[in-house]
Amino acid sequence: MSGSDPLTAGPPPEHEVKALLREAGVAVPRGATAASAGGVAAAAGGLAPPLVLKAFGPGLVHKSDSGAVRLALAGPAEAAEAAAEMLGGLLAQGITPDGFLVEEQAEAGIELIVGVVRDPGFGPVLLAGLGGVWTEAMRDTAVRLCPVSEADARRMLASLRGSRLLRGYRGRPAADMDALVKLLLTVGGAGGLWERLDLGEFELNPVIATGRGAVAVDARYIPG
Ligand code: ADP
Ligand code: MG
Repeated sequence: MSGSDPLTAGPPPEHEVKALLREAGVAVPRGATAASAGGVAAAAGGLAPPLVLKAFGPGLVHKSDSGAVRLALAGPAEAAEAAAEMLGGLLAQGITPDGFLVEEQAEAGIELIVGVVRDPGFGPVLLAGLGGVWTEAMRDTAVRLCPVSEADARRMLASLRGSRLLRGYRGRPAADMDALVKLLLTVGGAGGLWERLDLGEFELNPVIATGRGAVAVDARYIPG
């Protein structure tokens, strides 16, 4: 990705993967990066709170586990304060971040995982399922060979045990299925991002689906 050899280059940082997604037509939060904790306030200046702060760099794959994600920050000053605290916590664990990503916090909704994984026999496969904290606990995912059709994408979502959550559950609004289907096609459909992954894999976890839209708030490219 970004012209580097995916076999030798490390995984690109989250904001680079998100820039690629945005270009392809996947909704991602507006955000900005800072090379140091001291730069976070300025980076946050043009963003609408509440804000989310994340650190990126080697050793930061599962960011929450390392204390590298802070949500619900009221503005630039609070983001800067959170960055200083986060940096202290990371250094204490022997992790030196390359920088910080500050971004707008997406509205709460249903969290899904969308990815492209490589089956050793079949090649690139699109995966969709309940995401966020549910990924491990529920193991509720659907897979189809790429490229998927629109009908495939709809069937994948309908086949999830958690599909009743997507259809609206106990007064919660139904998820925007058209936006989810469009996202699945952008990633795994004909001409989709999966064709540009070289030998790598791709994970959006979570994609947050609300009644109006679906936003990829975390994105990872795993070089092959
Ligand atoms: P991790 O590397 O731990 O997976 P994430 O970037 O997925 O880190 O952030 C952890 C959680 O924080 C996500 O599952 C999601 O619930 C929430 N989150 C992260 N970024 C945003 C955002 N921009 N808007 C709303 N929620 C977010
Ligand atoms: Mg994540």
